[in-house]
This record gives sequence, C-alpha cells and structure tokens, in this order.
Amino acid sequence: MSEDLKQQLQALEDELSHRFERISGDLKSDHSADFAEQVTERENDEVLLGLQQETAAALVQIKQALRQVDDGSYGICESCGEEIRAERLKAMPFATRCIHCAE
Ligand SMILES: [Zn+2]
Repeated sequence: MSEDLKQQLQALEDELSHRFERISGDLKSDHSADFAEQVTERENDEVLLGLQQETAAALVQIKQALRQVDDGSYGICESCGEEIRAERLKAMPFATRCIHCAE
C-alpha cells in the first residue's frame, strides 16, 4: 500500500474532524430571543445535525480504512478477498468491496 494513499486518508480524516468540530460549535451557539428567528435557527440545526451525523459516519469509515492500511487489509474485498482496483479506491476511498461484489 502506498504511503501517498495513507497520507490522503489522513488528510481526509483531518478535514472531517475539523468539519465535525465546526458543526458542533455552530450547534452550540446561542439562539436568538426572537421567535421567528428561533424557528429558522431550529431548521438550520436540523440541517446541521444531519451534516454532523454524516460527518461522524464518514470519520468512522476513514478510521477503519486507516486501520486496514496499517494491518495490510486495505483494498481487499471483504466479500471475495480479491484486490479492489486502484481506480475504484481512488474514487471511493472507503470501498470495502470490489466492484463485482458491490453490484
Ligand atoms: Zn469482491
């Protein structure tokens, strides 16, 4: 497994961690006293909560991928045990199945 790929995954992990912190910070910010504003803010919160969950899920996947890079199982299809093609991993760094098994 190339070091480039590991660095790429780590960069992505960093980016996602920062995004997660930023979203969490936004969610904690004080709400307006104005009722109409509060409604808008609550809607924003729902969007933010969705983003926060997505980001958290992506972080779990990237941590898993990094563990696999370390133990050498990254890029191996979990269904058939074949190597996942490099082009597929480039497009989907968290892919755990080859293109045939994913279909
Ligand atoms: Zn497969």
